[in-house]
Amino acid sequence: MNPIVHVTLGVHIANLGFRQHYGRRAAVILATASVFPDIDSVTVFISRGAYAHYHRAFTHSLGGWLVCGALLALLTARQDLKRWLLIDWGLWSLGMVGHTAADIITRWPIPVLYPLSDVRWSFAIVSWGDGFWTTLLLGFAVAAAIFAGYRRPISGVALGLSFLYLAYRFVVPTPGPSWLSRVWFGFWMR
Ligand SMILES: [Zn+2]
Repeated sequence: MNPIVHVTLGVHIANLGFRQHYGRRAAVILATASVFPDIDSVTVFISRGAYAHYHRAFTHSLGGWLVCGALLALLTARQDLKRWLLIDWGLWSLGMVGHTAADIITRWPIPVLYPLSDVRWSFAIVSWGDGFWTTLLLGFAVAAAIFAGYRRPISGVALGLSFLYLAYRFVVPTPGPSWLSRVWFGFWMR
């Protein structure tokens, strides 16, 4: 999915309780982890072929969640071994799992269980730039930031509505390009 969906999804997951429990840093970690796997997009600067091959591969897979999650948690937990093992590693990995979950419902297949399995999965029910879902997540994220006292219920509603919308899209899929994908890729790929 597009970066707006990824970041706001991380924010909503954090608002469900992680932020309240582990502080603002949990929200920062989850939001960052939710976009981190797309760091493999830098392969586009090597070549289109490299991008096609390496984008949505390792960082989007089981191996990536664990390895990248452990390394990134080393940075955020500093020297606190307990925090590294029990909190930050989990938060980083959870954010990346959410990223892959949001990507796998578009057309690009992902080797989710790599290195255990090379099988690539895709459940193409929405487009990369799905306007409705993007607007829903962004709108509720803004609302949660404004009405901070109601963060948890607002994000809960956002995720509940997302679930209903995606269930609907499972029945009526629209995996083709949207205006948002056209705007983004028109701007990005040129
Ligand atoms: Zn991705």
